[in-house]
Amino acid sequence: MEKSSEVSGFYKRPVEERLSFVKEWAGLADEEVATLRNTGGLPLGTADRMIENVVGGLTLPMGLGVNFRINGRDLLVPMVIEEPSVVAAASNAAKMARARGGFTASFSGPVMIAQVQLVEAPDPEAARKAILARRDEILSICNRQDPMLVQAGGGARDIEVRVLETSMGKMVVTHLLVDTRDAMGANAVNTMAEAIAPYIEEWTKGRVYLRILSNLAVHRLARATAVFDREAIGGEGVVEGILNASAFAEADPFRAATHNKGIMNGVSSVVLATGNDTRAIEAGAHAYAARSGRYSSLSRYERDAGGNLVGTLELPMAVGIVGGATKTHPVARIALKILDIKSAAELAQVIACVGLAQNLAALRALATEGIQRGHMGLHARNVAASAGATGELVDRIADQMVKEKKVRADRAKELLGEYSRKK
Ligand code: NAD
Repeated sequence: MEKSSEVSGFYKRPVEERLSFVKEWAGLADEEVATLRNTGGLPLGTADRMIENVVGGLTLPMGLGVNFRINGRDLLVPMVIEEPSVVAAASNAAKMARARGGFTASFSGPVMIAQVQLVEAPDPEAARKAILARRDEILSICNRQDPMLVQAGGGARDIEVRVLETSMGKMVVTHLLVDTRDAMGANAVNTMAEAIAPYIEEWTKGRVYLRILSNLAVHRLARATAVFDREAIGGEGVVEGILNASAFAEADPFRAATHNKGIMNGVSSVVLATGNDTRAIEAGAHAYAARSGRYSSLSRYERDAGGNLVGTLELPMAVGIVGGATKTHPVARIALKILDIKSAAELAQVIACVGLAQNLAALRALATEGIQRGHMGLHARNVAASAGATGELVDRIADQMVKEKKVRADRAKELLGEYSRKK
């Protein structure tokens, strides 16, 4: 009989029942079910309350970014990522930044935007004015929605209203600007947007559809800068190479996408380690990279009077330390404790610095020996392990493949056969 994926009320069933279901569905072995059930630092019961239809968890490695000195303070940075070389590269760049005092970071403040979309207003321009005229009333309605946020020093601060030309006609878009303090703030601002919608309809005689935050958090920018000593990064030739790499990314979206991906290797790994929303940050970063109308690089490099390289990274950073998974995931709590930060603003600055470190490391490798040599050691170990090597054979096979410059699954299998026979 053909299997049906239509399962009603799956989310209401206990995890064990879901596991039995999927075991039968996919013909899983007992050990495979046990592996799924083992959710590491996140208890299965907690996982079951975080999302729907839970049958297990997937643990990724957490590595510590070392050597970071940010705004005059040393810290260890937890990074969660599946890709080899990222933690090593960030740590290496952080070490190079230390020669001239490490990173300097700043934050524009935790102001999030919520959008309210109004259509079919009989007079869009008059609607815009009517909404603007009620600014104070709007702010007080919004602030009544979240007394805890107001008590924490946050709340709705201002509004912006635009008339937008679209393929469906003119729309009046209201932005609520909300200081979300130590929260990422999605729930907080979405609630406010929903609360204000009926009033906007009444004042304008239009119709509200969407009421949701914008991930293009332009009022929530984190900025990191570091001076990379010319000699510490490898001399004048390296400085020149990085300036050329940076100019290439500024001018070309094909290069900028990869340039920014490297930045996000560092950024997203800290965002994930602290239980924050990687998609929110990624969406914001790439939208910000295209703010001029053409997609470009998020970082900038220049040479100072002494011939050193000065790197700057600026991007939206809507992260929190209260709410969401930052609160519920025990490993995220520990990551925040390791970081020893007291506010979302501090976390945002750390993340920007890691992004800059990652970017510098990638550009330096690309502008000199190429990325592959650095990548190869760890990659070769992964290839060896995938080919079935265990114990000390993993390193032996990996070393041999790197030496031969043949890091490939077929070569790993050959070597495994050879070395196993000799054993
Ligand atoms: P939350 O609602 O769990 O917690 C925030 C609340 O905590 C505040 O509203 C406030 O009432 C309270 N609070 C207590 N002390 C505070 C302090 N010092 N500073 C600020 N608030 C304080 O979490 P959230 O941050 O509103 O929502 C985050 C979640 O929303 C994330 O998991 C995200 O994935 C999700 N989300 C994202 C999107 C998006 O990005 N487009 C959309 C919807 C939901």
